[in-house]
Amino acid sequence: MFYRAHVLIEMTSNSIHLGASQVKERLEREIAQAGLSNEVKVLETGPLGRGVPSPFLMIYPDNIMYAPVTVSEVREIVSEHLLKGRPVERLIVSETAPALKEGYFRPSPLAKEKRVVLRNSGLIDPGSIEDYIAQDGYQALGKVLSMSRQEAINIVKDSGLVGRGGAGFPTGLKLEFTMKAPGEEKYVVCNADEGEQGTFKDRLILEGDPHSIVEAMAICGYAVGAGEGYIYIRAEYPESIRAVEKAIESATDTGLLGDGILGADFSFQVKIRQGAGAYICGEETSLLESIEGKRGEPRIKPPYPPQAGLWGKPTAINNVETLANIPPIILNGADWYKSIGTPTCPGTKVFTLTGNVNMLGLIEVPMGITLRELLYDVGGGIRGGRQMKVVQTGGPSGGTMTPDMLDVPMAFDTLAQFNSALGSGALTVVDDTHCIVDVVKNFCEFFLHESCGKCTPCRIGNKRIVEILDRMQRGRGRPGDLDLLRILGENMKTTSFCGLGQAAPNPLMKCLDYFQEEFEKHVTEHLCDCQVCEMKPKRKEVGV
Ligand code: SF4
Repeated sequence: MFYRAHVLIEMTSNSIHLGASQVKERLEREIAQAGLSNEVKVLETGPLGRGVPSPFLMIYPDNIMYAPVTVSEVREIVSEHLLKGRPVERLIVSETAPALKEGYFRPSPLAKEKRVVLRNSGLIDPGSIEDYIAQDGYQALGKVLSMSRQEAINIVKDSGLVGRGGAGFPTGLKLEFTMKAPGEEKYVVCNADEGEQGTFKDRLILEGDPHSIVEAMAICGYAVGAGEGYIYIRAEYPESIRAVEKAIESATDTGLLGDGILGADFSFQVKIRQGAGAYICGEETSLLESIEGKRGEPRIKPPYPPQAGLWGKPTAINNVETLANIPPIILNGADWYKSIGTPTCPGTKVFTLTGNVNMLGLIEVPMGITLRELLYDVGGGIRGGRQMKVVQTGGPSGGTMTPDMLDVPMAFDTLAQFNSALGSGALTVVDDTHCIVDVVKNFCEFFLHESCGKCTPCRIGNKRIVEILDRMQRGRGRPGDLDLLRILGENMKTTSFCGLGQAAPNPLMKCLDYFQEEFEKHVTEHLCDCQVCEMKPKRKEVGV
C-alpha cells in the first residue's frame, strides 16, 4: 500500500518511560478517526541523540519534528498537520524552527556530528528488517561471503578500528588471532553489558539499530570461523533485549542467520544471554564466566579469549559500538573509514554527555574532537554559566580531565599521553560548585559496591579509601591521610587482579595531584570551600 506520509515515533526505554506508548496509541486512534489510516503510516524508531527531547514524532516527507509530544497534543498534530497540511509551529522542536522556514529539517543539524554507528538510529523502524535492508543492511554480510576470511579481516585491520569498550585494542587483530587459533569450535560474543556510570550509548544503539549488531556478528562469525554468537545484555535493558530478539528472529526467517546463509557454505546463529547487572561482568572474562553459568569473576590472563574464551574455545569478543562500525567499514572500505577521525585513531566516537552541561544526551563525532568543542559547541556550555571543574571520561574507571586538558584531542592515543583515557565515551561534567572530595568519594563508592571481592587490594583498598574520604568530609581528617590515600591507590593499581581494581584509584590519584590544596584544606583546616561537606568540629575543640 502507498502511504503519503510516514510518522516515526521514538520508542526507546527512555521515551516509553516518558509516555511514548500512550502517545502512539492516541496517534493511531486519531489517525483512524480522521480517516487517514490508508494514507498515513505510523512507525516506531530509535533515538536521535543529543538535544532532542523525548518522545519525538518525525513526519516524512515533510521532515518536521515535534518534540516532546504529549498525549493531549496528538489530536492537533493529526487534525492540523496530517489532515490539513498545516504544521503546528508552536509544537515543533525549537532546533527545527529555523529550518522549517526553509521548508525542511534534517535530524542531524550539528556541523560536528558524523554518524557511522548511529547511521540508522532515529531514521528507520528498528523492528523492520525491510527498513534496515533498504539502508544497505546485510549488504556487507553478502560482500564478505564472497571473500576469504583473511581478506575480510584485512579490511577491518586496515581500517584502524580499535575496540570502543574502553581498552582500544585493534579489532582486526583480535579477529585474526581468533581465526588463526587452533580448533574447530569458535565463538563470537557481543559485550552489551554496559555498566559505567553515565553510559547509555550501547542501549540506544541496540534499541535504534539492532540489525547492525546482528549483521556485524555474522560478519565476525564468518571471519573467524565461528558458527555461534552470543549477545550478553544486562537484564535492566528490556527494550534492548526485545529489539535484538526481534532482529534475530526476522534475520533467521529471512535466511540471513541460520544454515547456508545467502547460499554460502556458512551457518551462523545468534543467542541472547541476560546479565544480572554486575559491573564486573563487563570485563570480558567475567562475562564469559557468566555466559557459562558461573559466578562473574575475572579469569587469569593469558590465555586471552581469542586463544581460550567461551568454554575454553577461541572467542572474538567485541562491544556494541565496535561491532556497529564493522558493516559500514566492509561496505565502504578501509580508506573511507580512515578519512574520518585522526590519522592514528580513525573513525568516530559516540559520547554520552551527562552532568552539569546544558545539552545532555548522545552524540557521535569524529575522533580528535577536543573536550572544549564537546562541552561548549555540542553541549552548549556548562549549566548556569559555571566553570568546569572536572570531566570524567568513560565512567569512574576511565580518565579524569581537568580544565588544563580542554584542548586535548579526544582519541585513545592522545588521551593516553596525558595519563587519561577515553574509556567507553561517557562524559560526566562536574562544575565548580562541587567539592572534589565529595566527587571522588562518589566514584570510589561505586567501585566499593561493584568490587567482586576476589582479590584483597581491590576488596579492602576501596573500603579503606572510602572510609578515609568519608572521615575527611566529616572534619575528621588526619595528618598523613593524603599520603595514605596515595599509597593505597598505588598498591591497588599495581596489585589488583583485574582492570576494575587497577582503574579504581584513577580519579582519586588524578584529583589528588590537581586539587591538592582543596584536599589539604579538608584535612588541616577542616574546611570545604564549596560547603558541600558537613564539617563537624573535633570534640575537644568544643570543650567536651
Ligand atoms: Fe574482583 Fe576487584 Fe579483584 Fe577485579 S580487582 S578480581 S573486581 S576484587
